Amino acid sequence: MTNLKKIYNTKSPVLEEMGFNDDNYVIIAGPCAIEDRESLLAYAKLLKDNNIHYMRAGAFKPRTSPYDFQGLGYLGLNMLKEIRELTGIKVVSEIVNADDVKKFEETVDIIQVGTRNAQNFELLKALGKTTTPVLLKRGFGNTIDEWLSAAEYILASGNPNVILCERGLKSIDGNSHNILDLGGAILVKKLTKLPVIIDPSHASKIYETVPELTWAGLTAGLNGALIEIHFNPDASISDSAQALRTTKFSGLLEKARKISAVLDKKIY
Ligand code: PEP
Ligand code: MN
Repeated sequence: MTNLKKIYNTKSPVLEEMGFNDDNYVIIAGPCAIEDRESLLAYAKLLKDNNIHYMRAGAFKPRTSPYDFQGLGYLGLNMLKEIRELTGIKVVSEIVNADDVKKFEETVDIIQVGTRNAQNFELLKALGKTTTPVLLKRGFGNTIDEWLSAAEYILASGNPNVILCERGLKSIDGNSHNILDLGGAILVKKLTKLPVIIDPSHASKIYETVPELTWAGLTAGLNGALIEIHFNPDASISDSAQALRTTKFSGLLEKARKISAVLDKKIY
């Protein structure tokens, strides 16, 4: 391993307090992208009704093609802020520009770093200057050492509140399917004191496997799952193939709650 000093002994009381501790499996769910205010409010209500504390929703969408929807940007971020204040739901959203750290600090509970920026070291250093928790995705081609080093950038710059997220590696199936490195996530959970979660949606790209991967992360002793859901996946403006229909999401939660009871944990 490269020179890692902080990652092995950094525990985050802030994250433990926010639900990311070994008594819980935290579900963070919501649409890939913020589409409009009304649907965002409806997602927040659905999650609250299901006793889920965190909603995900992207305002800035780093897309492979420049012709695909790039997100609503600051307009979306302001919607997120409003819905957060209105409903009390906690929110997670992706940052793509180091100049936006202050804006995100004021708007979200957790700042997400996507797989494409997983080694954007200037962004990681800038996130080390805030204490707002950071959800750091693993780069889709990164080794565990590279992933931990990326987290070390944030920790060494002064922010101890980092959540590690395994989101799948590129596979021989090209664009149709990714590989969830569950073993890697379990290893990282054993190597560090930081919470480790999975993203079964981007890790598979196929909604049909999202519930099973979510349950696998729970039984593996990980801390949570970041899940893309949609009221009408066919109409989803981005990542429609992996979006789990909201009606199926209740089934995912029901079974997760049964499994968690056996493991003496709570779905948070
Ligand atoms: C996302 O969570 O919406 C996202 C873009 O994820 P990733 O960076 O893992 O592709
Ligand atoms: Mn997505």
